[in-house]
Amino acid sequence: MRVFCASVATETNTFSPLRTDFNDFLQSFYAPPGQHPDTPTLCSAVFPALRRRQAAGEIELIEGTATWAEPGGLVNGRTWERLRDEVLEQLRAALPVDAVVLGLHGAMIADGCVDCEGTLIEAVRALAGPQAKIGVSFDPHSHLSAKRVENADIITVFKEFPHTDFVEAGEACVDLTLRAARGEIAPVISVFDVRMMDVLPTSRDPMRGFVDRMLALERSGTALSVSAIHGFMAGDSPDLGAKIIVISDGDTAGGAALARDLGMELFSFRGRTRNELLGAREALSRAAAAARGPVVIADVWDNPGGGVPGDSTIMLREALDLGLSDIAFGSMWDPMAVRLCHAAGEGARLHLRIGGKTSDQGGEPVDLDVTVLRVQKNAVQSFGASVVPMGDCAVVRSDGGMEIVLNSNRSQSFSPDLFTNLGVDAPARQVLVVKSTNHFHGAFAPMAAEVLYAAVEGPYPSDPARNAYTRLTRALWPMVEAPHGELPDV
Ligand SMILES: [Zn+2]
Repeated sequence: MRVFCASVATETNTFSPLRTDFNDFLQSFYAPPGQHPDTPTLCSAVFPALRRRQAAGEIELIEGTATWAEPGGLVNGRTWERLRDEVLEQLRAALPVDAVVLGLHGAMIADGCVDCEGTLIEAVRALAGPQAKIGVSFDPHSHLSAKRVENADIITVFKEFPHTDFVEAGEACVDLTLRAARGEIAPVISVFDVRMMDVLPTSRDPMRGFVDRMLALERSGTALSVSAIHGFMAGDSPDLGAKIIVISDGDTAGGAALARDLGMELFSFRGRTRNELLGAREALSRAAAAARGPVVIADVWDNPGGGVPGDSTIMLREALDLGLSDIAFGSMWDPMAVRLCHAAGEGARLHLRIGGKTSDQGGEPVDLDVTVLRVQKNAVQSFGASVVPMGDCAVVRSDGGMEIVLNSNRSQSFSPDLFTNLGVDAPARQVLVVKSTNHFHGAFAPMAAEVLYAAVEGPYPSDPARNAYTRLTRALWPMVEAPHGELPDV
């Protein structure tokens, strides 16, 4: 059995001051055919899964390109066309194939193409032919279009947020696609439009129980696969919002009924799933006064993982105003400051301008007298089994005692090793401030005395009811109170 695979992924915040081009893909992750590392990345876990099948003699694998750009702004139109054509040419050269497996994110929007993944899957279908089985994996923070569903046989989505199960989702996509290609199953995809845009962390109820139920439905054989698309509120897509995907073995009516039941249950969670959000000053004051540290504060909306720059200084300024000293920030995107620190060298003292450079919404730059504690080329942090590049980094200490990790590859905060790899004794600090909405939680929670969430206004469009969407034609909560029609009294 001949199987082609490729991975093209990013998450586009169409409201971001940033823009994304080919350099952003090169800088984050770009592996030409055959050069994918042994370890998976968030959206390319299908590669190692397929290599294991090849090693077992099950398939003949033809690898295409795998690439990922850190979430950012609108993708340059020529960059998108280049990546699309690169993968399609590789597939054309690999024909005939029995199956195609694509590791996608699902929220990529380019200048001139609102549904990049739908366009890609449709083109793959046209090349591979109606008999080939096409499996795709998505991040739940994506836009599920009809074009994607019509042209795919298998769709799997990470169930967990934080996405601790991306390896399992890649494995499931491979497994189901190969079983379909062998004729062992006849997958039918049923989708229910939940008509809701909310933030749905799965570490706690009600989402924890919902994910456990999806897993139980798969284990019991009720469905081949059950997934929830959460939606990505920072993308101006006509397909914005939550959707349920059920893949049944030939049971169109049963799959649709299950998708509807799960979808209306998910809809009933609206407005109840977000973590408690504090203001910047309140979060910092509570953390500083806590009996023991480290208290981890997530600056939830200045999260590069959501496509914003990650150089907001609002929390930093607030900490300075409060006179906090036993505190470390990780990380602030500031390639210019990193360059200056590398030029100055470890141990040097300088007057450094930090952050606040990419928009007028993330606070003014902060000017501090600092000592350069550490400079590091090509620093990394971990995210589960994957290694995340942070680019050249520097650690500075202000005269007031604050430590700040500066990075040159935009990256959200995934793991305490972003501090410890650079010599910052994170477990010993009273307060750690990270830029992440939820992904930090998996690795930081075990070492944290407490986790707090701070909501700081910035360039991220954090309130769907107020966001200036231009492409929506469907009614969605919270813009519309009852998008499914009149709801029964509760
Ligand atoms: Zn996501």
